[in-house]
Amino acid sequence: MAPRVAVLPGDGIGREVVPEAVALLQGLGPGIEFEFFDVDADRYLRTGVALPPEIFRRLEQADAIFLGAIGDPRVGDAAYQASVLGHLRTVFDLYANVRPARLLDESLSPLRHPRRRMDLVVLRENTEGLYAGMGARYRPGSDQEVAIVHHYNTYAGVTRILEYAFAIARREVCMVDKWNAMPESGALWHARFRAVAERHPGIRARHLMVDAAAAHLVRDPGQFDVIVTENCFGDILSDLAGELAGGIGMAPSGNFNPAGRRALFEPVHGSAPDIAGRGVANPVAAIRTGGMLLQHLGFEAAARALEAAVVAAIRAGERTRDLGGNLSTAEAAAAIGRRLRRGG
Ligand code: ATP
Repeated sequence: MAPRVAVLPGDGIGREVVPEAVALLQGLGPGIEFEFFDVDADRYLRTGVALPPEIFRRLEQADAIFLGAIGDPRVGDAAYQASVLGHLRTVFDLYANVRPARLLDESLSPLRHPRRRMDLVVLRENTEGLYAGMGARYRPGSDQEVAIVHHYNTYAGVTRILEYAFAIARREVCMVDKWNAMPESGALWHARFRAVAERHPGIRARHLMVDAAAAHLVRDPGQFDVIVTENCFGDILSDLAGELAGGIGMAPSGNFNPAGRRALFEPVHGSAPDIAGRGVANPVAAIRTGGMLLQHLGFEAAARALEAAVVAAIRAGERTRDLGGNLSTAEAAAAIGRRLRRGG
């Protein structure tokens, strides 16, 4: 049966970059059916619900979800974003957030002398850690207010994300934590890291504190293969890695649960209200996110061809203005499309 992809362009620049990406994918993944859904701030403001049950059922039946961005300055409450992205990650238990950061061309690096070519993945645990939503405020607003956020880690949750890290690593897994300041979670992560590493003798196992990992990333990002860490540290380190690889307009991501067959793909950037509606957003993050989607659906050669076309376009200076070029969103996507057709 043809794979079905549910497409949610969402808000802001999501509506500009996702259709461009899907147009490229349509020529690449023969038979993939793309079905678009309006899950966005307009709907939320109109009806009070962003993701109605009838659309949710369609997403449940899809082989993959391609999401643009959820966020709109007209919507003040965090509940809107949580009711879409947070909700989908939770109900589908998409615990592995894969954020590749590959430097496609040296000119994109903010570093003066990038030592080695950067090609790494930040693997962020998506369902636990500091963002698990556990905590409380006591006596809010008073001068005796207490605010508590729990750092929640489970044996099963830590084990499965570490297993995932070793499964995708080519040569090394670097586990990042802050065990000296957070010894309880540190003890669990380290014990599971030792146990899982033993099962994968062909892959080097290394550990860094999160502060040291940030410093190492800036000094020599080329040293890393897979960095695996809890939710909050992964959020921060993946932004840092993304910037080192050319910025947020380039960064793709996928959310996976290999036990279920579901996956959700989204560019790392948000709705970017400051540039939305002007046709200047960089479509590369969304296009490369589409490449991850192709790979997930088994179209490996097509995914490689798409990445090669992106690299060729970037190297030829066919860039949007965030990368120092002057192309519009549509022009940058068209340039990649042309290179795709002529093979690089
Ligand atoms: P949200 O609340 O939806 O996360 P945001 O503006 O806080 O939106 P981002 O959308 O990630 O966060 O944008 C951060 C900055 O990066 C903005 O200045 C934005 O214009 C810029 N940016 C993000 N994505 C792109 C892109 N694809 N092309 C060019 N600039 C981008």
